[in-house]
Amino acid sequence: MKKDVRSLSLKDLCSFFESNNYPSYIGKQVHHWLWKKSSFSFDEMTNISLELRDFLKNKFVINHIKIDKIQKSNDGTIKNAVKLFDNLLVESVLIPTEKRTTACISSQVGCSLDCDFCATSKLKRIRNLNPDEIFDQVSTINLQSKLYFNRPISNIVFMGMGEPLLNYNNLILGIEKITSKEGLGISPKRITVSTSGISKLIVRMADENVKFNLAISLHSAIEKTRNKIMPFSIKFPLNELKEAVKYWYNKTRKKVTYEYIVWNGINDNLKHIKALIEFCKASPSKVNLIQYNNTENPFFSSASEKKIQEYIFELEENKIPVTIRKSRGKDIDAACGQLANREIN
Ligand code: SAH
Repeated sequence: MKKDVRSLSLKDLCSFFESNNYPSYIGKQVHHWLWKKSSFSFDEMTNISLELRDFLKNKFVINHIKIDKIQKSNDGTIKNAVKLFDNLLVESVLIPTEKRTTACISSQVGCSLDCDFCATSKLKRIRNLNPDEIFDQVSTINLQSKLYFNRPISNIVFMGMGEPLLNYNNLILGIEKITSKEGLGISPKRITVSTSGISKLIVRMADENVKFNLAISLHSAIEKTRNKIMPFSIKFPLNELKEAVKYWYNKTRKKVTYEYIVWNGINDNLKHIKALIEFCKASPSKVNLIQYNNTENPFFSSASEKKIQEYIFELEENKIPVTIRKSRGKDIDAACGQLANREIN
């Protein structure tokens, strides 16, 4: 099988050309086509001689993602079914609002976690996405945003399929390309990685001094409840998570955001509110209340508006910033937790 040319770094590319008796600056030109222009094929590389393009075609492939299907929601949200080189599918979503256009990106095919309220968890994890597949989703959605909304994307969230931190190396490499001048040059301040809370890897990111934002899917600050709705979290206890978040803040000085859904009969009581407040007070943080999007699990339904208002009231009383994330793209199964490679007609 031919190697994907994008697995070579700029340095690798330059030395490849040198060792094949070509000037090393060609490496830079090819790198520019691959990352700045997001080329699908060597034929696009018009400042490279035809002979050299043939030589490259014989040696390498470019496994660029392809959009297999596009679905548009009544609220403007666009869901893309993205086909990978091995025919597997993931989904990425473009979410336009008045002030922002956000790209919601997948990090794995399926997911190895078992959050009971999330449709992706039913797909099981098939494989990790490569750095270039992560990059391609962003560059593709960026073009789409310019095409449909006349503006580039303003934000990127890793809240699509998969657990980004369980694909750590590729995630970091993908983000490097997204943020670097040779790539898309998007500021890391506009990127948020959402994790279900894998403490060890939160500590690692803090040590590596990453510049993007961190969101943690908390959903309950009571261990017993969290273990029930997110069974894998038995291996990732809340006290360790709390320590990891403190460590993160001390190193990066960035507040984490806790993502939190309030469900009927699960966490819609004062005991849960108090536990959340206590958890938040451990280190500077904010809470993002997410509207629950229905999946097929009858165990979960959104709490009443009154209960959600109680959360907001108590959090604000305790000076913890709280925002509400409205659901977008629900009619096409493009909202949080609904990505399951399904098509709604
Ligand atoms: N694995 C990562 C990122 C993917 S999920 C994580 O767990 O954070 C992105 C967000 O959507 C998470 O906060 C997740 O808890 C939330 N989510 C999952 N299912 C949902 C649903 N049915 N309705 C609303 N949000 C959901």
